[in-house]
Amino acid sequence: MATKAKDKKYVYSFGGGKADGNESMKNLLGGKGANLAEMAGNPNLKLPVPPGFTITTDVCTYYYDNKRTYPAILKSQIEKAMVSVEKIMGKKFGDVKNPLLMSVRSGARKSMPGMMDTVLNIGLTEKTIQGLIDNSGDARFAYDAYRRLVMMYADVVMEKAGGLEPAEGKGIRKIMDEVLEDLKKEKGYKIDTDLTVEDLKSLVVEFKKLIKKHLKQEFPEDAWGQLMGGVGAVFASWNGKRAVEYRSIERIPDEWGTAVNVQAMVFGNMGEGSCTGVAFTRNPGNGENYFYGEYLVNAQGEDVVAGIRTPSPINDKSKNDHSKDLVTLQKLSPKVYKELDSIQKRLEKHYHDMQDIEFTVEQGKLFMLQCRVGKRNGSAAVRMAADMYKEKMIDAATAIQRVNPNQLVELLLPMLDPKAEATTKPIAKGLPAGPGGAIGRVVFSSEDAVAWAAKGEKVILVREETSPEDVDGMHKAQAILTSKGGMTSHAALVARGWGKCCIVGCSEIEISGKKMICKDGHEVKEGDWISLNGTKGLVYEGMMALSDVDLAKNKAYTELMKLVDKYKTIGVRTNADTPKDAKQAIEFGAEGIGLFRTEHMFYGEGSDRPLFLLRKMIMSSTEEERRAALDQLFGFVKKDMKATMAVMKGKPVTIRLLDPPLHEFVPHDKHKLEELANALGINMDILKKRIDGLHENNPMLGHRGVRLGITYPEITEMQIRAILEAAGELNKEKAKALPEIMVPVTCTVEELDHQKAIFDRVYAEVCKKLKVKSIPHLYGTMIEIPRAALLADKMAQTADFFSFGTNDLTQMGFGFSRDDIGGFLPDYLGGKILADDPFQTIDQDGIGQLIKYGVERGRATKPNLKVGICGEHGGDPESVKFCHRMGMNYVSCSPFRVPIARLAAAHAAIEEQKSAKKAAPKKASKKVVAKKAAPAKKAAAKKVAKKR
Ligand code: PEP
Ligand code: MG
Repeated sequence: MATKAKDKKYVYSFGGGKADGNESMKNLLGGKGANLAEMAGNPNLKLPVPPGFTITTDVCTYYYDNKRTYPAILKSQIEKAMVSVEKIMGKKFGDVKNPLLMSVRSGARKSMPGMMDTVLNIGLTEKTIQGLIDNSGDARFAYDAYRRLVMMYADVVMEKAGGLEPAEGKGIRKIMDEVLEDLKKEKGYKIDTDLTVEDLKSLVVEFKKLIKKHLKQEFPEDAWGQLMGGVGAVFASWNGKRAVEYRSIERIPDEWGTAVNVQAMVFGNMGEGSCTGVAFTRNPGNGENYFYGEYLVNAQGEDVVAGIRTPSPINDKSKNDHSKDLVTLQKLSPKVYKELDSIQKRLEKHYHDMQDIEFTVEQGKLFMLQCRVGKRNGSAAVRMAADMYKEKMIDAATAIQRVNPNQLVELLLPMLDPKAEATTKPIAKGLPAGPGGAIGRVVFSSEDAVAWAAKGEKVILVREETSPEDVDGMHKAQAILTSKGGMTSHAALVARGWGKCCIVGCSEIEISGKKMICKDGHEVKEGDWISLNGTKGLVYEGMMALSDVDLAKNKAYTELMKLVDKYKTIGVRTNADTPKDAKQAIEFGAEGIGLFRTEHMFYGEGSDRPLFLLRKMIMSSTEEERRAALDQLFGFVKKDMKATMAVMKGKPVTIRLLDPPLHEFVPHDKHKLEELANALGINMDILKKRIDGLHENNPMLGHRGVRLGITYPEITEMQIRAILEAAGELNKEKAKALPEIMVPVTCTVEELDHQKAIFDRVYAEVCKKLKVKSIPHLYGTMIEIPRAALLADKMAQTADFFSFGTNDLTQMGFGFSRDDIGGFLPDYLGGKILADDPFQTIDQDGIGQLIKYGVERGRATKPNLKVGICGEHGGDPESVKFCHRMGMNYVSCSPFRVPIARLAAAHAAIEEQKSAKKAAPKKASKKVVAKKAAPAKKAAAKKVAKKR
């Protein structure tokens, strides 16, 4: 029976060694709330967490479903929870003598750093402030807390959540900041802490007047009013612009909603014996296993994340060039550090993962404010997964699942060319917040980053510091450079989450309008190129070359990928058509070539002569002329294929017969046309007529692929002869070769049969010529036209294998031109008409059905039919998983994406195992049989996949 709203529990308390909730309740309590409950209440932890309560995400859902109102029962549940907090703290909310102050923070299911608003010091009013002064014995502290509350409350609750939208630079926070700065200037103060009690008192008065003037309301001088305002503001901020933007980038569903955490305030700004900090149980930048963090003495919670002051390191290992001379927490307060260190160890052991923790020390007493699984970049994720597996903290499957396949991109990231770096002096140095190298043109605002990137420019976003409002520009930029902030600042957190190159706290630059001036005198203007080394934090002027990384030296990566290969069952091949690419792909773990595009040899280095001969062949008017040109071309084609097959050393190489329409190869420049006319012994007019004859209105659907081979069988014949001779010779030389000849753009089995007859004849001739009995090979087809998928049972009568060409299959299935979709795709994605770009991620609902049907029908005819994919989707993690589920034998992708595909394949296998395990208990009677059968089936599948 569903619980009625009036009986429902909307508020979960924590603190004093107890908690209503626990870690498993993230959907209801949000990540922050669930972890606070776990830290406070789990018998193994019982950490010093300031008491509080969490208002559930159900209330957020209710709030939006009911015109921004709350369930009637909520208020009384909150009041009850507040009484528990009051008991633990020995203070009373709203009390004049002994006031309890609270913080209000958001907390969604998945962390959204800095995306939602926080209000601190709630409960401080004209009436209660004297109580705080008396209790703390520090009037300055009390008034500082009060002016912070007024500023935050006005900004977050009254303006933002109130839906007021002031013009750029005219927000209440900005106006108040200016008043504060003016006062400091007038008094000759350098930092905020120079402000006296009297200054702070006058500021509060001034701020309240500003609120009345600009927001046309009074600042609420009642504790409960403040609290409910704060709660409402958090719910409202779920649908604020920056939260919505972040959700759309991170694909967080809108309907999740946020919880609200209301917690007793503890103060890191109660003098020199107080501090606040952020730390990680392992270094999130490189994954090394040591406690890593930063703290600020006499500061309030948000100051560290906001990046306003340069934080100090918690221990020697956390020092960097900026903080090397600052006093560590370990030195400043050994007892507190020891307690914190022991807590962080317990937390990591408890959660079996790296934790990101926030702590506050109030007059020597340590409090834990938050813990959550820490974000990490790709290199760190790999290192931690491999280390934790070795430490027996996690099992192999967990280690594999700890790394998101897309995170591997960072390990494969280009780096600035080390040779160029060795001879170039950096113009500035900052903190290395996001690894890898990047080059781009400087822009100074998020809007410019978005606009320039839309024009195809590579940009680097340079800011003093970033705020959640900058997220869109940060996402579009190649890299981010900030002059302020530490490794836990907003820019660093967000960039780390995305694996983006990022340098923060680069105090050697000063930003002035659309210019950045370096300490050494260099000036960089908007649009100038700079290069960043995010691994070392170095900034260079100009455009430096980017070079590849040496993965083989990364031990953690090698260890993790060994585990990956134990789990994955689907093969991973590569799309490569040069020996160099093939070699690179093998180093990345490719098990074969899934697509060798023959036409590649007519482009790029060394292609002049073969291209000329191809053109001669294309422009021939008789079969005789064409055969003469093809004879000349033959040697080049054979050599090209032999070189790549030699590198693959017997691993399968799927060679596709010529695919593009012939007019693509026709020259445009006059000199080349004349040369061609001379070679053919015809004049320019005749040549032009022949060229015009090739014109097609819709070449993508025109005379291409197998259609060329039907019209000109001699083209097919030449290619097949070249492939078989190359393979036969390699086999005779004991070098081994396994070609798989693939016919493109087919739509009927008759096309395949037509070409197969040519193949059979040439095969016999080559065997005879080389004096061999056989040449191992396969004969198969691309499935890239919907009709071919629908008639897969027929296609499989002749084909030994299918390779899904999902680029064309998507094009023809959707009727979207793959070359022109850029013009309207943003409207489709923006308007949520499509969830993804179908040319990047397989559209499982539509195109996926064609694939499913094609695999099933093909295997109905030929149970051993080998099936793979060679469209761009072969390197996309979600698509790789789909191919695994379809029972394909392999995916094929560009060399660079091979490791990503391998990891995604292992994820797919583990997910399958897990769901099989989940399903198993339901069939209790068959359990024993299923258990026995499963490994055998897996092993067989693996064997078949390997063989293929
Ligand atoms: C395809 O269509 O998916 C394919 C691999 O071929 P191409 O991209 O060369 O058309
Ligand atoms: Mg194609």
